[in-house]
Amino acid sequence: MDEPSTVEKGGAGFEGVTLLLCENPLPPLDEAVDAAREELPRSNHYTEPYSEPLGALLAERLGVPAECIHVNAGSELILRQLFDRFGKKVHLLTPTYPLFPEIAAQYTETRLQPGAEFRFDLRELEIPEGTTLAVVVNPNNPNGGAFDVDPLPALLEANPETRFLVDEAFVDFVDESVVGLVPEYDNLLVTRTLSKAHSLAGFRVGYAVAPEPIAASLNAANDAYPLARPSQAAAIATLRNEAKIHERIGRLRSWTDELAAALRRLGVRTFPTETYFFLADFSPHDASGVAARLRERDIFVKPLDDDRLGPGYMRVTTARPEENEQVVEALAEIL
Ligand code: PMP
Repeated sequence: MDEPSTVEKGGAGFEGVTLLLCENPLPPLDEAVDAAREELPRSNHYTEPYSEPLGALLAERLGVPAECIHVNAGSELILRQLFDRFGKKVHLLTPTYPLFPEIAAQYTETRLQPGAEFRFDLRELEIPEGTTLAVVVNPNNPNGGAFDVDPLPALLEANPETRFLVDEAFVDFVDESVVGLVPEYDNLLVTRTLSKAHSLAGFRVGYAVAPEPIAASLNAANDAYPLARPSQAAAIATLRNEAKIHERIGRLRSWTDELAAALRRLGVRTFPTETYFFLADFSPHDASGVAARLRERDIFVKPLDDDRLGPGYMRVTTARPEENEQVVEALAEIL
């Protein structure tokens, strides 16, 4: 595994076209930027404790009690704490978000297979004896494909000793959230973030929807003022304009589909996705070699470096159409 958590996030600093991060290529909504700017002069004040106005809005939108919500500065901070608390014996569906194998004390895995295009029927998920935390990323990173979550209630009931963590970082692309089940099951935890579909990665806004005692205990164990006032204001303004986010999702999806189709025309195998990134198999070319050649042209991509998948694999995140065209032209020469 290559420097997972920093390579994923990376931030600014790539002078050129980046297709390697998990960031939304579109900037925050104007409404978010305006709301943040308006809030700046009030930054001598803390936010309301536990970001109460944001928590209340989320609770209303998701139809869950506000007591089930824990807001923090990005979802990674929450995921790390959930792994610390419950991750004695973790079960992962791999390949997965590289942070998870990194922070799990020990883990078993169910492999998603390229032959099945990384799809998996959760009805077939077998949870090994003694598993304390089973993690489903929906849609999954790195492939962007979604799981059918209908079998989740049966899994929760059949494995009462196992906590199930559903990481819904990219759920806005599929609208198949399981947050509505949280109040019914004491072994279901859901994390979400405004870093992806909502274009607010740099504002750092994430949250968990968890059974009340767990949300309360997360709140008690963390800073009660996790967000900057401009971050909270940007989050609220974005959630109030979700129709615009949905319109953007359509655009991102079509850019992604066009980029994948262009790669296929160059002989690259691509896998189905619901999000703004996808897996591509460049074999017989070596993904690191292709990445190095692209790098010479100031185009940054990410070889997957997963020995079991082979050296051809790369995760590709869409850029804007004009940048994608540049990438496709460069690849046409390289391949
Ligand atoms: N979950 C998944 C699946 C991710 O891909 C990421 C970021 N790459 C995160 C969680 C964390 O995002 P954040 O800390 O910005 O909320």
